[in-house]
Amino acid sequence: MTQERYLSKTVSQLKPSGIRKFFDLAAGMEGVISLGVGEPDFVTSWNVREACILSLEQGFTSYTANAGLAELRVEIVRYLQKKFNVSYRYEDEVIVTVGASQALDIALRAITDPLDEILIPEPCFVSYGPLVSLAGGVPVPLHTKAEDQFKLLPEHIEAAITDRTKGLLLCSPSNPTGAVLNKKELEQIAEMAEKHDLIILADEIYAELTYDEAYTSFPSLKGMQERTILISGFSKGFAMTGWRLGFVAAPAALSQAMLKIHQYAMMCAPTMAQFGAIEALKNGLQDVEQMKKSYRQRRNYFVDSLNEIGLPCHLPGGAFYAFPSIANTGLSSEEFAERLLLEQKVAVVPGHVFGESGEGFIRCSYASSLEQLQEALRRISIFMKNFQ
Ligand code: PLP
Repeated sequence: MTQERYLSKTVSQLKPSGIRKFFDLAAGMEGVISLGVGEPDFVTSWNVREACILSLEQGFTSYTANAGLAELRVEIVRYLQKKFNVSYRYEDEVIVTVGASQALDIALRAITDPLDEILIPEPCFVSYGPLVSLAGGVPVPLHTKAEDQFKLLPEHIEAAITDRTKGLLLCSPSNPTGAVLNKKELEQIAEMAEKHDLIILADEIYAELTYDEAYTSFPSLKGMQERTILISGFSKGFAMTGWRLGFVAAPAALSQAMLKIHQYAMMCAPTMAQFGAIEALKNGLQDVEQMKKSYRQRRNYFVDSLNEIGLPCHLPGGAFYAFPSIANTGLSSEEFAERLLLEQKVAVVPGHVFGESGEGFIRCSYASSLEQLQEALRRISIFMKNFQ
C-alpha cells in the first residue's frame, strides 16, 4: 500500500531542500571541513544561558501569553527603536515566534489567498518558495544578477508585477549572497511598493551582521511601516540558532491576524528560551559586537583568499556567507560541490539550491575558526589546480 495517495498535492510537489543532500553526504565522511552550515560558530553567551537556567530553577515552566512574555516584547520594542529607529507597540504589534522561520510562515499565511503571487528575489533562502506554496500562494522568482552584486533593482519588480501580485519578500543582508541594500536602494524598492500597493515581508534576521555601512531597516523608511511585516530573531546575531526564537513586528491589523495563526498552531514560543532572550537584549549587545568584529575579520581574509585562488567573489556587506563564482571551472555548481567534497573533503552548498540564478556559484559560510578556514582554502586551492 502506498501512503503517498494521502498526501496533499502541495506537499507532494515540494522538493526537499538541496542543502540536506550535502549534509547527509558529508555526515558519512571523516575529516570533512564544513562551510555548508548557516549558523554562527559561537556558543550563546553565558549570561544568556544562565538566565534560561535560572528561569527553570525558579519553575517558570508553563505557557506564556500567546504573543510571548510582555517583558520580552517590551525589550524587543526598545531594541528595534534604539538600533533601527522603528517604533512598535509591544501590546499588539509584536509576536515572539519559534525562530524567524515561524515568523515567515505566519506572515505568509496571514496575507496569502489562493494563487496570490509573492515576489522573491533570487538567489534566496531555501524556505521562501516552499513557504509561499504551503500558504497557497505562487512564488514568483526575481532573478538578480552577479554583476549587480545580486541586489534587487526596481526593474526586477516592475517586470514581474501582475494583477495577482500581493507582496515582496525582501532579505537584506541576504542569505546566500551576503548582499546588503543601502538606504537609497531600499528607497527605490519602497517607491515600487507604493506604486503597486505591495506588502513587504522584510526578513532582517542578519541585520546585526553588517560590516561596511550603517544598516537601514525597511520599515524605518518614510511611509513603509504601514505596509511592512518585519521578521527577525535571535539565531544569527545572538548566536542562538538552537533556541528557536524569533519575532515579527507589524501594524496591529496584521499582527493580530498573525497572532490568530500563532495561537492555534503554536500556542507560544518556548518559555525558557524567552527568558534567555530577555537577557540577550538587556545585556548581550556587546557580545554581538565582538562576534561581528570576528566575522568581519574572517570575511576579509576568506574573500581575499577566494579571489586569489581563482574563485571571483564580491565582498559581501553582511551575514556570514561568501558566494563566489565557479564559472572558471566549467562545472555546474552541483558537480563542483560534489567533487570538492569527495576529492578534498570540503563541504559547500551549490548555488542552484537557492534558485536558478544561483547556478554558477557556491555558498561558503565563513562562520568557522580561522584555522578551519585556512585549511579549507588550502584544500580548495589544490582542487582548483584541476582547472588550470
Ligand atoms: N531567514 C533567513 C534569510 C535565514 O537564513 C534563516 C536561517 O538560515 C532564517 C530566516 C531562519 O532563522 P531561524 O533560525 O530564526 O528560524
